[in-house]
Amino acid sequence: MKLTLFALAGALVLGASALQDDHHVTYDDTPFLPGSPYRVHGERPWPKVVTPAARPGGAPSDATVLFDGKDFSAWTQGGGEVSWKLDGEAMVCTGGGSIQTKASFGDCQLHLEFATPSPPRGDSQERGNSGVFLMGRYEVQVLDSFENPTYPDGQCSALYGQFPPLVNACREPGEWQTYDIVFRAPRFEEGELVSPARLTVFHNGVLTQNDRALLGATVHRQLPHYTPHEPKAPLQLQDHGNPIRYRNIWIRELDLSD
Ligand code: MG
Repeated sequence: MKLTLFALAGALVLGASALQDDHHVTYDDTPFLPGSPYRVHGERPWPKVVTPAARPGGAPSDATVLFDGKDFSAWTQGGGEVSWKLDGEAMVCTGGGSIQTKASFGDCQLHLEFATPSPPRGDSQERGNSGVFLMGRYEVQVLDSFENPTYPDGQCSALYGQFPPLVNACREPGEWQTYDIVFRAPRFEEGELVSPARLTVFHNGVLTQNDRALLGATVHRQLPHYTPHEPKAPLQLQDHGNPIRYRNIWIRELDLSD
């Protein structure tokens, strides 16, 4: 044991002195990474600086805030006024129709928070149903799946009709829950699909979808398929007739090409 501790202490001292001797910012005498114009530790474009939010879950400096509790200025309902209601820091679905962002988005990181109604009403797909439709087409299901059985590819955090979540990470009805979503838009060339939409979802901080390749736009009781569309389209929140609440919605536009 003594020898092992001695060896460990020696390694730490050696490691520290090696760090102190390393004044390089970049290296120009290291091997090139395979298939890359860049060397190991070599010069390459610097990642831009993004300032994280002061509080976890808040919008970082390069995000577009879509809803902060104040108004519906980023939203429309079929081109007109939004009929959903403001309630404190939240917006509440009133049964008047789905809402869409005025702006269009392609690849993105999306954060939002939602709460399903409490006390719960209905069962299966009739309990706390809504949905986050990326590009207005690709649904991450919102549902009260707390002790509420339904078909697995339709439960909360499912990619509706295609992939059940890896786990059921639902909180109880009425509690605030988070979605953190990474979306890569599908690519089309000359009317043909060249790469499918891809989705990663964290539900309440728990990984529920890991870079899933979607089979097409969301449909009910049918096989999905792709219809070519524009590279950016509005985000939609679904009105499924249940008074779902949403708050703290922000999005970061990304370019996930390459
Ligand atoms: Mg839904």
